[in-house]
Amino acid sequence: MRKPLWINGQWVEGSSWRTLRSPYTMEEIAEIAQADEAQLNRAVEAAAAAAKVMRKMPAHERASILEKVSAALTSRREEAARIIALEAAKPLKTALAEIDRTIMTYKFSAEEARQLRGEMVPMDAAPGGDNRLAFTLREPIGVIGAITPFNFPMNLVAHKVGPAIASGNTVVLKPASQTPLSAYLIAELFDQAGLPAGALNVVTGSGSTLGNLLVEDPRISMITFTGSPAVGTAIRNRAGLKRVTLELGSNSAVIIDTDRNLDKIVERCVTGAFTYQGQVCISLQRIFVVGEDLYRRFTDEFVKRTGNLRTGDPLSMDTDLSALISPADVSRSLEWIGEAKRLGATVAAGGQAEGNVLRPTVLLNVDPRAKVSCQEVFAPIVLINAVKSVEEAISLVNDSDYGLQAGIYTDDVHAALHAAESLEAGGVLINDIPTFRVDHMPYGGVKMSGMGREGVKYAMEEMTERKLVIFNRN
Ligand code: NAP
Repeated sequence: MRKPLWINGQWVEGSSWRTLRSPYTMEEIAEIAQADEAQLNRAVEAAAAAAKVMRKMPAHERASILEKVSAALTSRREEAARIIALEAAKPLKTALAEIDRTIMTYKFSAEEARQLRGEMVPMDAAPGGDNRLAFTLREPIGVIGAITPFNFPMNLVAHKVGPAIASGNTVVLKPASQTPLSAYLIAELFDQAGLPAGALNVVTGSGSTLGNLLVEDPRISMITFTGSPAVGTAIRNRAGLKRVTLELGSNSAVIIDTDRNLDKIVERCVTGAFTYQGQVCISLQRIFVVGEDLYRRFTDEFVKRTGNLRTGDPLSMDTDLSALISPADVSRSLEWIGEAKRLGATVAAGGQAEGNVLRPTVLLNVDPRAKVSCQEVFAPIVLINAVKSVEEAISLVNDSDYGLQAGIYTDDVHAALHAAESLEAGGVLINDIPTFRVDHMPYGGVKMSGMGREGVKYAMEEMTERKLVIFNRN
């Protein structure tokens, strides 16, 4: 199968082609068009022309297009999930869950399109403001350059395209090279839903070449990026005065300070650590258990449950974990496990790979200097360390360059409130793992985990300008 570019409402042959392979079997899936500079230029030109149309489109029409996309995805749910399983090696049951969330993200976008509004400003609150009636309008920002990662190829595209269309913008989307097919399916659904030509363009090709062109193009008003901190930082440095939203990585942690419903807690933690092979931005990477006795019981149960996970073909409904996104990530993960062992860690489960599948790995007593602790591991590797107090755990959680979400299980309301105040993260979850997201909540990080917020309504705030209108009645 050959997959061309989607520019100005048409399929356009690539200037060259790249073979897309399954991360699990390494077999060819498709030939993907690679855009050159002239083609990217045409995509931006089309988006700039369509921005004039979208700006005038009434909210009910934008909402209706988004509702149709959501409905079309519902009827193609299995097909869409298989695309994710094939190109991203996401186990089918996890891929189906992603589609269900994507359907919701477009539904929320349709709802928020109808709710987009400014506010009255009480001008007479200031001396000199008497007899002035003022309000703000929320205007679309124009053309948005969206750059997305491989790990949620439908839903993270939805978190950019949904709010952008809901607020009357247009988009040039550069999806991850490993997951172009998901993005092209979404382009097809928007076309069928009646989105004007040029309002959504999808270009595939080298991240650095196309990415740099998008970031530096003066016709683009905003870059919305989800991906690694290294690329996000480079984008921020090049973007000049463009608005930039960055959703980056983390080494998320949870504190366990209670044994109430320990089985349930362990089950949640195993899910948080190993869902999609740990390749989730809020994957549970570090677990700190308060007290030696609780630590032993928690660890025993955790290792037992990890042993029940099934690895294998992403297209099988029985599979819990499949291949990492690339063989290089398998070698990197094994090296990081080796380094943790040299620094004194014990491997309680996993630690080896079969092909591109890394067995779910549990490390105990890990030195905080080990890469598996202080960097983003993005693989099915979790560490469990004992701590003496919640206070010690909070300082270990905060001893990180990242801060996306953090969790604490406790029965002590004072400890919970203290943790909520003290944990340095965009979100704090009480009695849950950090690996939790529904698609309308404000979501984003502090420190190296990013800047700006997503979650449909919050992304729309980033994607609109507030224009002030003042009537002088004096
Ligand atoms: P990545 O390597 O940073 O790639 C992300 C996107 O950036 C891809 O489309 C990539 O294109 C493109 N890109 C590469 N170099 C670029 C450059 N110089 N300029 C502009 N764009 C460039 O990340 P990934 O491996 O796909 O995704 C994993 C990362 O995403 C992890 O760090 C994870 O934590 C983070 N993430 C964060 C969130 C969140 O919401 N906070 C959610 C999901 C994932 P190519 O694929 O063509 O290289």
